[in-house]
Amino acid sequence: MKTKLFNSIIFGPITSRRLGLSLGINLLPTDSKLCNFDCIYCECGWTDLKSAPKVEFHKRADVKNQLETILKQLQSEEKKLNSITFAGNGEPTLHPDFNLIIDDVIKLRDHYFPLCKISVLSNSLMLNNSKVTEALKKVDNRILKLDAGTEETFQLINQPLNKRTLKWVVEQLIKFNGDLTIQTLFLKGKYKNHTIDNTTDFEIESWLSNLKKIKPKLVMLYSLDRATPAKDLQKIDAATLNSIAKKVEAIGIEAIVS
Ligand code: SF4
Repeated sequence: MKTKLFNSIIFGPITSRRLGLSLGINLLPTDSKLCNFDCIYCECGWTDLKSAPKVEFHKRADVKNQLETILKQLQSEEKKLNSITFAGNGEPTLHPDFNLIIDDVIKLRDHYFPLCKISVLSNSLMLNNSKVTEALKKVDNRILKLDAGTEETFQLINQPLNKRTLKWVVEQLIKFNGDLTIQTLFLKGKYKNHTIDNTTDFEIESWLSNLKKIKPKLVMLYSLDRATPAKDLQKIDAATLNSIAKKVEAIGIEAIVS
């Protein structure tokens, strides 16, 4: 298994269990990753802070033009598109024109595929920026990351680069008044002489307690699928993920294992 980068602005469409046929938008560079987390499991590899100041973002017009070209083509082929999904080589909300690009994408969606949903995968760390928050409120699916129940595990798994705490992230997520999806990656292993396991009873109880405060519409649970930058990590089996999903459903929140 290898870590991978998306080498284009628009990618797919790919079939996703939860999103259906999904066309991806990568707002980050195509030759490197840019993120304000440094997750030990990130399929794009480690975050390289040294190259971050040199990053050139794709121009808003390029994103718009490339998306329109592909939507036109998919429409002429009479394809059914279920989601236009912001994902890719890092955190999409770091793009300085994120809010304007969301407006462009909504217009294009309305014109070419009015029934298609717009989804954004985000780690929540830009939610102190009102432009980002307002833009996220305009899309159909905000899919926001919550990988830990405790502060210690959050810092070990996600390694936020701007010293944000789990408490701060949960406070931001609560502000969506339940109109959001949470995604959580479960893993165990070792990293920098620490044992990490976000499936222990204590972690799950703490995580569930945060979910009760956030009240998401849906929780998506998954585990490792590709090579990870930290080497000593293990995938969590489907039976364990399903039993965690049952605990989520027991507190009245829909859960899906993918
Ligand atoms: S938030 Fe996503 S892109 Fe950023 S380091 Fe974590 S997994 Fe990678």
